Amino acid sequence: MSLEPQLVVVGAGPGGYVAAFKAADLGMRVTLVDAAVNPGGVCLYRGCIPSKALLHVAKVLNESKAAANWGISFPPPTIDIDKLRSWKDEVIGKMTGGLGQLVKTRKIDYIQGHGTFLGNNELRIKSDGDGGKDLRFEHAILATGSVPATIPTFDIGSDRIIDSTSALELSEVPETMLVVGGGYIGLELGSAYAALGTRVSVVEMTDGLIPPADRDLIKPLARRLDREFEQIMLKTKVLAVRDKDNFLQVEFQGADSTFNGDYHKVLVAVGRQPNSARIGLDQTSVQLDQKGFVQVDAQRRTAAPSIFAIGDIAGEPMLAHKAFYEASVAVEAIAGHDVAYEPNAIPAVVFTDPEIAWCGLTEKEAAEQQRDVEVARFPWAASGRATTLGSNDGLTKLVVDPKT
Ligand code: NAD
Repeated sequence: MSLEPQLVVVGAGPGGYVAAFKAADLGMRVTLVDAAVNPGGVCLYRGCIPSKALLHVAKVLNESKAAANWGISFPPPTIDIDKLRSWKDEVIGKMTGGLGQLVKTRKIDYIQGHGTFLGNNELRIKSDGDGGKDLRFEHAILATGSVPATIPTFDIGSDRIIDSTSALELSEVPETMLVVGGGYIGLELGSAYAALGTRVSVVEMTDGLIPPADRDLIKPLARRLDREFEQIMLKTKVLAVRDKDNFLQVEFQGADSTFNGDYHKVLVAVGRQPNSARIGLDQTSVQLDQKGFVQVDAQRRTAAPSIFAIGDIAGEPMLAHKAFYEASVAVEAIAGHDVAYEPNAIPAVVFTDPEIAWCGLTEKEAAEQQRDVEVARFPWAASGRATTLGSNDGLTKLVVDPKT
């Protein structure tokens, strides 16, 4: 390496690659570090993109079934799991390969390896089979993302217990699967596997699916999933899991009793945790909160003035588009622009069928904050477009401040 980078970006997911591209566009000398051969991160390799590919397949399968109601019947589908997996991998390859090209076009120095901080201005990068390369930098942006959260109950060393990463590898379509957690991942992946033929059950510890969303928005989805899933257990916890060789026996604690269920696979989707360990942050002045998120100011600057943090590692919500925006703010702050990350609202979408999307204050949050709001509802039973799609059980609502 001839010159010290002005900016090193650690982690090349949606936060990291956007930061690197933007900084290069502003004329900075940029090094981007990631363990993968091309940028992409969890979103492209093991998250948003593969799951959306499978959800598209699920939609096609479900719509071809629903078409019988409109006088069009198809024979039951034949699913070639190997071909489906190759197609999904091809999608990932195209997207990540495209990003690799953009890195070259922008003359970003891409280093495949694992970065560990040695101080507030120094990073060691280790690649397979090399002793490591130390890099001094003016600024760093930390964008190492998050990993699936784990719970000791499921730590029994069985390969029948999977997380979103292994579920997306699509090694098989199990006969039955228990999904632990009725949030984004549990319902998206549960829906995809249900469409492929798995009998899916969900266990959720709170009293409803997708806890942050308003209940009236969840209703149409819950009604659909009641038909597509074998069982949805709310206000229920998993007490124990036992490996019985051919299946897992799961012991549940419901509202007033304990009971058992047998499953071929158990998908644990109980949230994600920041990837802030084992990257040498203890060698820097960067501060973490109790959950392991990096503490940042409105410009995404950490307690070490030379180091910024963006994306999942910098706090909730863990969404790619939030990381894009933080990337832009952090890079512009480094370039000396007067910017701040102060979003009024961050849109969220759950890509189930039906999909649920919301943005800004929910009706529940407005009530909790004792805000004076009015709610306008438009039921899709009255929408011609929704009716032609056979989807008129949905709704749109606006939560508005009547004064403004
Ligand atoms: P989540 O927070 O969306 O859902 C986790 C669910 O698990 C919650 O409903 C929680 O109440 C429940 N839970 C927690 N512990 C439990 C237990 N012991 N037993 C039963 N239920 C339990 O988390 P996730 O689904 O793992 O997804 C992680 C993050 O990834 C999301 O918060 C989101 O930011 C991101 N994500 C986004 C999308 C999208 O934008 N469409 C898709 C997938 C993931």
